[in-house]
Amino acid sequence: MSERVVYLNGSVVPEGEAKVSVFDRGFTSGDAVYEVTRSFAHKLFRLDSHVDRLRRSLAYTRIDCGLSADQLQRLSEDVFERNLHLLGEYDDYLVWNIISRGERPPSPNRHATVVTYCVPVPSANFARTYFDGVTVITPATRRIPTQSLESRAKIANKMNHMMAKFEAQQAGPDAVPLMLDIDGNITETDLANFFFVAGGKLCTPLARNVLGGITREVVIELADRLGIEVAEGIYTPYDVYMADEAFTTGTSETISPVRSFNGSPIGAKLPGPVTLNLIKAWNDLVGVDIVARAIMNLGDNERADLMVEWDKRCATLEA
Ligand code: PMP
Repeated sequence: MSERVVYLNGSVVPEGEAKVSVFDRGFTSGDAVYEVTRSFAHKLFRLDSHVDRLRRSLAYTRIDCGLSADQLQRLSEDVFERNLHLLGEYDDYLVWNIISRGERPPSPNRHATVVTYCVPVPSANFARTYFDGVTVITPATRRIPTQSLESRAKIANKMNHMMAKFEAQQAGPDAVPLMLDIDGNITETDLANFFFVAGGKLCTPLARNVLGGITREVVIELADRLGIEVAEGIYTPYDVYMADEAFTTGTSETISPVRSFNGSPIGAKLPGPVTLNLIKAWNDLVGVDIVARAIMNLGDNERADLMVEWDKRCATLEA
C-alpha cells in the first residue's frame, strides 16, 4: 500500500476514503478534543503521557469515546505501525487522535467520532528555526481565561489562538503570538509553551494558565537533571525583555530558540547556551540529534552548510 491508512470509528481505511459527516459536532461546533504524539527515529515518544492527557481532556469535556486508556494507546501504536513502511529514513510521524462528541440531529448516530491518523513531521519547514530563532509578538487578543475554558484540556477549537496568530503575523509571516492572560501575564503561544532564562534560572508560566505541554514537562525534567533551577511563576512581558535567552516547546519542533520579543532581540547567540544544553539533553534522551534529523530533510544545497553550522554551534558549548 502506498497510501497511509486512518482509523475511523472501528475501521482502518485508506486516508483518501476516511470521511466524517457534515453533521459531526467537531465540524459544526468545534466540539472535540485532540492529541498529537511524535516519533523520534521511528519510535513513539511518551505515548503514555499523551494518552493520559487525552483521557483528561475527554473527562473534562464529558465526551465518552467508549475506549479505555489501554485501547487508546494500542490504537495509536497500531495506526503508527501500519504506516511506518511509508516513512523515509530521516522522517518521523505525528500521530493525531481526534475525538468529537459525534453527530447532531438529523443524523441518527449518537456515538463519538474517533479518528487516528499519521502525518509526517514537517521538519523541512522548521529546520532553519534552530538557527534563526522564532520572532515572538504579544497580540492584543488575550488567552481565554482558564475560568472560562480550562487551558489544560487540549480542545480542538483553536480560534482564540488563531486570532492571536493572525495579529502576530502583522509583524511578519513567521511571527508567533505569545498570548497574555486577562491580567497581562504571559501564557503560551498558539502552538507551544514558553520558557525564558534569567539569571541562570529557567522560568516558565504557571501550569494553571497554559496547556500542560508534554514537551514542557520533559524539558523541566531535563533541566532538573542538568541542575538548572526551574521557576514556574507569574511573569509579564517586562520579564521577557530582561531575559538572557528564550525558547518555545512543542511536540513537533521540540525546542525552538526565540530570536526577538516585540522587536527586541533576546540573547547573543542562537540557540543560547541553556537552550543548546537542553536540546543536547533531549537528543541524549531520544537517541537522535533532532536538529541534524530536521536538516537531513532539507534540499541537498542547504543540508551540507547547515550541518557544518550546527556542528560549530554545538562546539561553542563544549569550548
Ligand atoms: N500550548 C498550546 C496552545 C498547544 O497547542 C501546544 C501543542 N499542542 C502546546 C502548548 C505544547 O504542547 P505539547 O508539548 O504537548 O505539544
